[in-house]
Amino acid sequence: MADTKVYLLDGGTLVIDGYHVFWNRGPGGEVRFPCYAVLIEHKDGRYIFDTGYDHAHVQRVLPFEKPIQTREQTIPGALATLGLKPQDIDYVINSHYHFDHCGGNKHLTKACTLCHAKELEASGNCQPFEHLGYSDLTFHPELARKQKNPLPPDPAMDIYTPRFETLKGDQEIAKGLWLFETPGHTAGHYSLMVELKGRRPMLFTADACYSKKNMDLMCISSFHLDPVASVKSLHCLKELAAKHDAELFYSHDAESFATYQKGPAYYA
Ligand SMILES: [Zn+2]
Repeated sequence: MADTKVYLLDGGTLVIDGYHVFWNRGPGGEVRFPCYAVLIEHKDGRYIFDTGYDHAHVQRVLPFEKPIQTREQTIPGALATLGLKPQDIDYVINSHYHFDHCGGNKHLTKACTLCHAKELEASGNCQPFEHLGYSDLTFHPELARKQKNPLPPDPAMDIYTPRFETLKGDQEIAKGLWLFETPGHTAGHYSLMVELKGRRPMLFTADACYSKKNMDLMCISSFHLDPVASVKSLHCLKELAAKHDAELFYSHDAESFATYQKGPAYYA
């Protein structure tokens, strides 16, 4: 039986202001940060945790985030560098449905999509201040079609009919793959822990914690549904890391990301 392998797939970068990264603390000014997907080769199948952003979507709806993404940094491009096709992915897990975490879902036409029940509900019914976060609804064509501004033609959408499986609570979804509820940034946010044979568990915070500095300062980002729950989730991640002797992998941390191994290299 093959051992689990984890590949980090570089998804390019975006820019936001420092006051958004460190809420009410800053300093202000442009912060360019990475986005990435996590591919897990597991004996039960291939999983992808988050799928990055879609460059055309960001250019169209949030051009001020100044996306930089090469062909190799798209989901199809990154998979191709590993000799894989989008159809080879069995499961997509979305930490949440902000545009920079689900933009590549539409390419994964064979995959079953796993997410928190509350997140799926929120994505189609968000608060007014969350509208840019939830602006890319291509992960859910039915919702996308109901959006006020119709989508530009996109061949990827013609063959994409996702199946959703919603979850609640902390869950071991496959042996050694754990989802932990970390709400606050959004209604139904999940972080992921992967247990591996040859190293400490990897705990992917997703947007419950953008960077090591956010954790060190116990400072949340400005994009949140519930800031108090967000702070609680930061504490929760810290406790989980200590309890499982897990290494924290942050979602949008240029400094930490520079030290991570990226595909085709992998963790095992
Ligand atoms: Zn994000």
